[in-house]
Amino acid sequence: MKDNIRYVVPYVPGEQPDEKNMIKLNTNENPYPPAPGVKSILDSYSAEELRLYPSPVSKDLVEEIAALHKVDCDRVFVGVGSDDVLALMFLTYFNSGKPILFPDITYSFYDVWADLYRIPYKRPKLDDNFRIVPEDYKQENGGIVIANPNAPTGVFESQETIESIIEANKDVVVIIDEAYVDFGPATMMSLADKYDNVVVVRTFSKSRSLAGMRIGYAIGSKALIKALNDVRYSFNSYPMTRLSIQVGAESIKDEKYFNECVEKIKKTREWTKAELKNLGFTFPDSQTNFIFAKHEKVSAVTIFEELRKKHIYVRHFNADRIDNYLRITIGTDEEMKTFINEVKEILERQ
Ligand code: PMP
Repeated sequence: MKDNIRYVVPYVPGEQPDEKNMIKLNTNENPYPPAPGVKSILDSYSAEELRLYPSPVSKDLVEEIAALHKVDCDRVFVGVGSDDVLALMFLTYFNSGKPILFPDITYSFYDVWADLYRIPYKRPKLDDNFRIVPEDYKQENGGIVIANPNAPTGVFESQETIESIIEANKDVVVIIDEAYVDFGPATMMSLADKYDNVVVVRTFSKSRSLAGMRIGYAIGSKALIKALNDVRYSFNSYPMTRLSIQVGAESIKDEKYFNECVEKIKKTREWTKAELKNLGFTFPDSQTNFIFAKHEKVSAVTIFEELRKKHIYVRHFNADRIDNYLRITIGTDEEMKTFINEVKEILERQ
């Protein structure tokens, strides 16, 4: 029996403690509530509706996403968070038997999916400043995955860099994971229009404050999206709930609220960068809703543990090259002030 089982080492997400007065800066959630229209939907939602299956093609949500990006609906794929979208992409697009490529430091779910599906992979090293070396992606491969801005580093690569990689890889699928793009300077969405082999992945979990609803999507060529949907419908005919379809569609309609929240977070991020710098931290210049920082004297583990005692949660990765860094999600101004004050005290005690 044992030999018939697929054994895998699962991805370990950041912890979700359930404490009243905690400051939770460990999973890149948004500190602000979703758009007010979302609350109206939830407040008036009729349980009666749940008798019925949802739209199998997530109609209203797909239509809103298509309108937002000015593309046809058959170029939009939606999933249960972008993790679901990415997992299905790995299964659908990476079947050549050749190694796929993604950086050594990036979203730590990519190697888990590759292992799950037994897709071989190579992980070209980011340089010492956590930048991609485009030359590394000009070797034979079975596909490429790039998070831009990258996680957990927060580093953004220019369109020029990304496009040079795509130009050298027109016969494989290139996935651009834009989970954090709304906090950054530019999207690569136009490359999904220009190149048939490029898909761009987005999430509602960060900039739209809907991590709890689980909504992600991808935009790509019709052929790539059709292949992905065919795989999707071979697992589950109704992936999105009635509620997530409605809530997601509503969230897109309120552009003003969306922009206000994103701007607030960017402003708080810049304030936090300046404070961390004053305290002796160094970090790559973040273009996301988190900062990936290390202290010149005090170890990441010490700061992590001490913050935890005060019910302030940040993320630490026990991985090669990054084990002395902390990934700090940007919370509200008040949360970040408390965080900085606590860090100051911790440093003084060392
Ligand atoms: N991509 C990256 C780079 C991420 O950091 C995350 C968040 N863990 C995801 C995708 C998945 O987010 P979600 O499933 O909530 O859309």
